[in-house]
Amino acid sequence: MQFKDIEGQQVLANKLTEIIDSGRISHAQLFLGPTASGSLALALAYAQYLCCQQRGEGLHDSCGVCPSCRKYAALEHPDLHLVFPTTTTATVTSKPCSDDFQEEFRTFLNEHGQCGTEDEWYEFLGVENKQGQIRELDADNIIRTMGLKSYEGGYKVVVVWMAERMNLSAANTLLKTLEEPEGKTLLLLVAESRDRMLPTILSRVQQVVVPDLGVGMAAGRREEFAAMFVSWMRLLFKLNMQPLSAWVDKTAAAGRETQKQFLQYAQEALRACFLQTAAGIRLTRELEFGDPKFDQSFPALITPNNIEAMCEALNEAQYAISRNAYDKITFMQLSFKMSRYLRRAAGNASR
Ligand SMILES: [Zn+2]
Repeated sequence: MQFKDIEGQQVLANKLTEIIDSGRISHAQLFLGPTASGSLALALAYAQYLCCQQRGEGLHDSCGVCPSCRKYAALEHPDLHLVFPTTTTATVTSKPCSDDFQEEFRTFLNEHGQCGTEDEWYEFLGVENKQGQIRELDADNIIRTMGLKSYEGGYKVVVVWMAERMNLSAANTLLKTLEEPEGKTLLLLVAESRDRMLPTILSRVQQVVVPDLGVGMAAGRREEFAAMFVSWMRLLFKLNMQPLSAWVDKTAAAGRETQKQFLQYAQEALRACFLQTAAGIRLTRELEFGDPKFDQSFPALITPNNIEAMCEALNEAQYAISRNAYDKITFMQLSFKMSRYLRRAAGNASR
């Protein structure tokens, strides 16, 4: 990957190449930002630039044609090691780790221009309902790789994508490497959520904040979620049990990754509605629900009295789903809470 191929991140790309040109390269860095906005692609372009054999000061990009660049472009450089969340699949039935999925991951990255999201990765593996992890076995492999001699005499680079998926034992194992860096090694962590990273890891890495280009959710998905949201809110308002229960069943069938994204969408939607009520900031086109009647009347129901409680309930449900809680019960309980908050606001409004 060359920087020139990453849309919208030229300013950051220039900063990154200047850091390498100056020779002040930190051995452990965290690229923080959505994968869809290029956080992983930037980390890979950064490594490719560092290892480029025709790198020149002020050029701001790797040459793209030297042997090292070609191997990096194909993600087949022997000194590049890729680590990412994995889970059991039809073919890997126990103790999964990144080494079991190298070929699949390369294909996935190539198909998505190195900007594919975590959900798309699970979809690609055919395990939409499972949450991947980076485990101790992966951390052991990272340490072993870092300790080996470099094949081509240059930097050895380990890129850890979705580093927030490291479980506690993996993170603790990795801490040792962060404390005692080996010679020409570079550990590039790529994460979307700072909140889910261990503070002990955060304090030992140099952070590179990748601007969110707002491409995280495809327009089609947004429309689908908007329709789901509108029918849910209407059901909550009437609290009509039979159709509500059907809505919960349908949502449960959509799979955990979709559920988590929907809960995230719902929080953004409510905050946008609140801004409209509280500050008169109109819903942006992107956040309209596509139902004129609903767009017109719903935001007024989101007030200082219920916005926080509603977002907290959604956030808790999102956490429960990511911890594999039973989704039907989670969504049913959430629905009762949300209904109460919503009707309370409506009661106040009519008084
Ligand atoms: Zn090159």
